[in-house]
Amino acid sequence: MHEQPNRVQDFKDTMLFQQYNCFMFRELEQFDEELARYRASRQGKAAIPYDDFPRHAQVNEYIESIAQRYPDIVTLVTAGNSYDGRPIKYLKISTTNFEDPSKPIYFMDAMIHAREWVTTPVTLYAIHRLVEDLRNEDRDLLENIDWIIYPMVNPDGYEYSHDSERLWRRTRSTNPVDPSTCLGVDGNRNFDIAFNTVGVSSNPCSTTYPGVTPFSDVETVYIRDILHANLDRIQLYMNIHSHGNWILYGYGFNETLPPNAAQIHHVGATMGATIDALKLDLAPFYRVGNSAFLLYATSGSAQDYAQSIGVPFSYTLELPGYGFLFEAPPQFIGQINAETWEGIAASARLARLYYRARINN
Ligand SMILES: [Zn+2]
Repeated sequence: MHEQPNRVQDFKDTMLFQQYNCFMFRELEQFDEELARYRASRQGKAAIPYDDFPRHAQVNEYIESIAQRYPDIVTLVTAGNSYDGRPIKYLKISTTNFEDPSKPIYFMDAMIHAREWVTTPVTLYAIHRLVEDLRNEDRDLLENIDWIIYPMVNPDGYEYSHDSERLWRRTRSTNPVDPSTCLGVDGNRNFDIAFNTVGVSSNPCSTTYPGVTPFSDVETVYIRDILHANLDRIQLYMNIHSHGNWILYGYGFNETLPPNAAQIHHVGATMGATIDALKLDLAPFYRVGNSAFLLYATSGSAQDYAQSIGVPFSYTLELPGYGFLFEAPPQFIGQINAETWEGIAASARLARLYYRARINN
């Protein structure tokens, strides 16, 4: 069996785990204490953003420094400001300045849902492995594929989940119909695909409130615009969430499958199986399939929108929660990063083969 890293065992030895002898939600204060213990356990090693839960400003600092240090292959882009005015930045990574049409683009984003803290480290770790720590066996990933890596879709919600409400999920926009009601929309119900039909609530205070209109929130507009601007070459879109070990694909609003469903399943299942070979015993095997059939119906999702406009391979990735639901403890970040990176690599290689078939036809 796969051996569990010591720090996971360390975590299971903590009072917190023994006190409840089960996994459960924690209050923000408890989570902060846990994070402080995790940081202290690193014995003075500087916090590396991909091995931590960095604040939004630290994410920007990290990707800015990557762009500065690797100008030949990395381009820093500012998508725009969030509703509350935070600059949302992402990276384009390419050995050919994004100018070679024979290369597919792999586009991944994270943290559309604010409480899913472990999603951003996965994107930062992917950047790290492609740029700072490119290994010989991964050289093909950098040379044959262009990457758009967008670490934080919803920084306003994320910062709020650090400061006030650990389980906040939505954006933080003021409701245009009733400014006195709850703030924000569910970003993953705000895309223009079967908008406001299934898997949503009309209550502006619900976690699944889709907003007044599709793309009412700038945070989803930025994702939409990247998809359209690069549609001819985006071969795979990965919308990263936590939790549950799922790799899901469309369509989520009516259980119908895209015409290339066999290929979508092939790439998704390869990714899941690759991760499963590295997973902890604590985690279930990845389950791969149609999101409405396996999980529940949704409308206005990023996954369905990208699929509907012509991205050949569009997925929702639900990272492991190890029983902690949305609050995977920091002790697990390294494991999730490492195993997910291998899954990303496997899906990228396979999606590229399908891209070569696509452009040769
Ligand atoms: Zn989510």
